Amino acid sequence: MADIIKITDRISYIKATEKPLSADVGIIEGDESVWIFDVGADESVPISLNKISKPKNAVISHFHPDHMRNLEHVDLNEIYLGANTFKYAKRGTVVDKDVFIDDGITIHIFPLPSSHAKGSLGMEIGDYAFLGDATYSTMKQGKVCYNASVLKEEIAVLKNLSAKFFLISHDEKFIRPKEEIIEELEEIYKKRDPKESYICI
Ligand SMILES: [Zn+2]
Repeated sequence: MADIIKITDRISYIKATEKPLSADVGIIEGDESVWIFDVGADESVPISLNKISKPKNAVISHFHPDHMRNLEHVDLNEIYLGANTFKYAKRGTVVDKDVFIDDGITIHIFPLPSSHAKGSLGMEIGDYAFLGDATYSTMKQGKVCYNASVLKEEIAVLKNLSAKFFLISHDEKFIRPKEEIIEELEEIYKKRDPKESYICI
């Protein structure tokens, strides 16, 4: 069984692992349902999640296996994902605009432009926003690269969120101040060459 770490009365998570590579899993307690952000890949995760008696819904950040491999092993009512992730999961509800669900607390699911993975989603609950791997780069010929126009759109979406903390999957700290993340991304954006569509660092 995986340890469930509490952040607030309503928000907890299961920490990411490296062997096997498995993303951080968010667990949000609504009045009616429990909202799970990413289901990870480690086999201990579904054991812990399936012990939760309330109905469970999942939001999947993107299609990479470390975030969604456990989909078939968790008992779920609804799955929310981006169109690109749907191609891999082959089930669930596609989110292509902001969705707000009232479950005693407001669950805000939103598309998040990302250089790391097409069709990424984030989920915001009060002061906390789960971003998965969306703030990470992509690799191009062995280099760490960001798509400049996507990064610009991503910064705009992130600035608009009211959450004070961003939860960044695989990050040792995991819970990071919003300003710190935006500052890091803006520093990267400043390095762009207007003639190039990618910023490689
Ligand atoms: Zn990942």
